Amino acid sequence: MALIVQKYGGTSVGNPERIKNVAKRVAKWHAQGHKLVIVLSAMSGETNRLIALAKEVQSTPDPRELDVVVSTGEQVTIGLLSMALMELGISARSYTGPQVRILTDSSFTKARILKIDEDRMRRDLDEGCVVVVAGFQGVDDAGNITTLGRGGSDTTGVALAAALRADECQIYTDVDGVYTTDPRIVPEARKLDRITFEEMLEMASLGSKVLQIRSVEFAGKYKVKLRVLSSFKDEGEGTLITFEDDIKMEQPIISGIAFNRDEAKFTVVGVPDRPGIAYQILGPIAEANIDVDMIIQNVASDGTTDFSFTIPRGEYDRSKAILESVCQHVGAREIRGDRTMAKVSVVGVGMRSHVGIASRMFRTLAEEGINIQMISTSEIKISVAIEEKYLELAVRVLHKAFDLDEVVA
Ligand code: ADP
Ligand code: ASP
Ligand code: MG
Repeated sequence: MALIVQKYGGTSVGNPERIKNVAKRVAKWHAQGHKLVIVLSAMSGETNRLIALAKEVQSTPDPRELDVVVSTGEQVTIGLLSMALMELGISARSYTGPQVRILTDSSFTKARILKIDEDRMRRDLDEGCVVVVAGFQGVDDAGNITTLGRGGSDTTGVALAAALRADECQIYTDVDGVYTTDPRIVPEARKLDRITFEEMLEMASLGSKVLQIRSVEFAGKYKVKLRVLSSFKDEGEGTLITFEDDIKMEQPIISGIAFNRDEAKFTVVGVPDRPGIAYQILGPIAEANIDVDMIIQNVASDGTTDFSFTIPRGEYDRSKAILESVCQHVGAREIRGDRTMAKVSVVGVGMRSHVGIASRMFRTLAEEGINIQMISTSEIKISVAIEEKYLELAVRVLHKAFDLDEVVA
């Protein structure tokens, strides 16, 4: 008998029929004698609908009130699943994040979990009750409702598994595991039986939204056994996120290709080439809490240089306004912005021991006439910024060039 945390995403609980199917799946595990904590997302589309509602009323919604509104989606699904379980004769009890007491900081819309009270859940589990918890939400010290950022139910699932020292955290979604790339873009993408935490962390941070990055960080930190599975198929082991040592040595060099289409780029042209310039340009951007990703500064020719960087596309207008005042201050010639950028990354721990990955990547893109505008690397990934219109082509040709659609024996 094990203690298992299962998280079901928005599509998996998208309508009453699907909620009843989730209940049947939970019932099977329950019948095997396992203790179960179930974490749910809102029905698919519901969080978007709630955000749009808020924006209709207030153009830039107040973050505290936005969290009050968007956290309601999950309250609906947990109640419905508990009812569906009762219909199957299983005792179940639902809790919102604040009711469990998932304590977070006060960063509305992107709060971080600080502590989880497990007493209430343990009492219910000991009575043979299935505990159903709303994902994506918590409460701060002052009793305000908070949310954990888009896709945050994954993080609730893993955090509960860590707090309860669960035997496994199972993330049920609309694909049957983690693939070499998003199967919606490359139909030939192959399901991975295993992927290391490090690779999954890179994939998630580089745009593979199958798992929220924070959930992977949590799982790595607290050694939670994490598996991604399909909520629509019965068979299959899904993908196990594992530690590098557990993986067989003949790992493919590249495990996957991640991409993100929501990027934008700015180039500050003709800035004086002197110490402190990078700080003067990027300092105000960082102060505004805008994440800067890739950065390039060219070699100076006439005592001036061009300084380029990428940011999330949603921050384009705010960044532009900041740069315009910085530009005057540092004496730059002009600012050029492009809001249609994308980033493609190849990821694999095998890169540590193999050379030539970057050249294979660059040659493949060159053969398709795709211009690389920026490059960044780490030990286990290479990312390039390209024009968004080439994104799908780039992902497809790279997937092929690195033999990812071939089944490894
Ligand atoms: P949920 O609502 O269950 O949380 P998400 O939409 O957040 O589901 O995540 C599942 C989706 O992630 C899939 O439908 C798929 O399109 C996308 N995805 C992106 N990259 C990958 C990948 N490498 N492997 C599997 N799915 C991926
Ligand atoms: N419902 C939230 C969202 O759509 C959280 C989640 O589904 O994980 O982002
Ligand atoms: Mg998700």
